[in-house]
Amino acid sequence: MSFIDKLSSSVSDTAKSLGKKSNELMEISKLNVSIRKREEEILKLFEELGQYVYGRLKRLNYISKSEAEATIIAIEKLEEEIKTLEKLILNIKKIKYCSDCEIEADDDARYCPTCGKYIGG
Ligand SMILES: [Zn+2]
Repeated sequence: MSFIDKLSSSVSDTAKSLGKKSNELMEISKLNVSIRKREEEILKLFEELGQYVYGRLKRLNYISKSEAEATIIAIEKLEEEIKTLEKLILNIKKIKYCSDCEIEADDDARYCPTCGKYIGG
């Protein structure tokens, strides 16, 4: 292979890997937008719940959990979705993750450094 051929093939390899990188970055920023949206929804639900509880406690001096149940379930669902989205980001970044300890591990780690759970090879 001539010098020029080598150079152009290495340039196209670099371009390919840059293209892949920018796709990944785009994917990650989309996921981050989805996470932000859910975080905003959670804040809105917290606010609504707070107003409701405040209104109730001002007039009555108790509130039962069942009154807030639907809001609590909605918040929990959003929190679960955020966790899933965060895991997708870790996957794209190729960062290993222990779902039991909820910690990140080195890319080349096969077992969780904390609990020893297999996290992939
Ligand atoms: Zn672990």
